[in-house]
Amino acid sequence: MSLDSFFGSNHPARTAGDSLAGVATVAATCDLCKLAGGRTQVVFGVGRADADLLFVGEGPGEQEDLKGEPFVGRAGQLLTQLIEGIGLTRDDVYIANVVKCRPPGNRDPQPDEIEACAPWLDRQLELIRPRAIVTLGNFATKLLLDTKDGITKLRGREFPFSRAGVDAVLLPTFHPSAVLRSGGKALAEARADFVRVKRALARADRGAVLAE
Ligand code: URA
Repeated sequence: MSLDSFFGSNHPARTAGDSLAGVATVAATCDLCKLAGGRTQVVFGVGRADADLLFVGEGPGEQEDLKGEPFVGRAGQLLTQLIEGIGLTRDDVYIANVVKCRPPGNRDPQPDEIEACAPWLDRQLELIRPRAIVTLGNFATKLLLDTKDGITKLRGREFPFSRAGVDAVLLPTFHPSAVLRSGGKALAEARADFVRVKRALARADRGAVLAE
């Protein structure tokens, strides 16, 4: 499934204005899929509105649904550690999810839910204009790379990403929840992926200097 969703130009994200805060306000009342009925609140995203680095996870869990912020539970603590491990903080980056409302019982998001929600992520990309995008796990990777290949095959590599006027490098890595479940080897691989992210950002910086 691609970001070009069935909802196309009729989606409220398209007419929600040109600021991230404004788009978030409109998203807060979204009822385009069945997840709306079970949520405490929409978990739009958090971080710098002009971040160079964008993380995309799967969907809010229980803690995120209650707090209104992505990645604040156990997986979030690991994500924060991995971000800090490359010399950044959560405030330096932007963190979003494929679906903005909690799937019941933390089940996987379903194709119709992903499709209904994709235009919100599209607007986040368009307004934040990141230089590097890290997809956390299968759902974000499959959506943003428009691929059926799984995360185990794709992680550790870099992919060109071009969409919504954004040219960036996309680096898939394991979802932090999967790292927590799998332990040592997956954690080492995730750390290695974050070092790749740091290098990709440094390259993007040099590119900007050279282009001046
Ligand atoms: N898992 C996700 O994919 N996103 C969150 O926000 C929290 C856990």
